[in-house]
Amino acid sequence: MKILKTNLYLGPNQYAKFKVIRHVLDIGVLEDWPSAKIGSEFVDGLVEALPGLHEHGCSYRVPGGFIRRLREDEGTWMAHIIEHVALELQCVAGNEVTFGRTRSTGEVGQYNMVYAYIHKDVGLAACELAIKLLMHLLPKDLQKKQTIRLKKISTGKQNRQDLLKVHKGMLSALVPLHSSRRQRKGIFRGCG
Ligand SMILES: [Zn+2]
Repeated sequence: MKILKTNLYLGPNQYAKFKVIRHVLDIGVLEDWPSAKIGSEFVDGLVEALPGLHEHGCSYRVPGGFIRRLREDEGTWMAHIIEHVALELQCVAGNEVTFGRTRSTGEVGQYNMVYAYIHKDVGLAACELAIKLLMHLLPKDLQKKQTIRLKKISTGKQNRQDLLKVHKGMLSALVPLHSSRRQRKGIFRGCG
């Protein structure tokens, strides 16, 4: 799993009229492992960690749509899952964002993954954490086949420390979500 390239759009851009982050992802061997093939335990673990994913409409545009995409037929591919998790983690951190799009670049295993952000550091950290969480949830045999390479997204020591703080904040925010599910009506996250 590699982030090959990152672009931070500060205003209207080719993807949206608002700020988005684009990562070019290479999902490597996971190209052969869409979510339904990875297995129901993977999907169950993900939904348990982030119950807010129930509200993501995805292409169905109704709550539960994204979970349906994860489970039905072959399921969906890791880059698309990272998009939804990066959106959800930002929401958990108090940055309500809904827009995301993931499309193949045309190269096998490579994807343009675009998602909205409010605060740059939170947006960037959300994707890093999404990748770490998803790799952690993979079955052990698939985990062993993973090399995670996150492109260094900031070189300043101070920025790096800020990002770590954001990570820690997001992780602690995940804890209460296990016990209480928030109500978010009328907002369908991800892919549209
Ligand atoms: Zn989607």
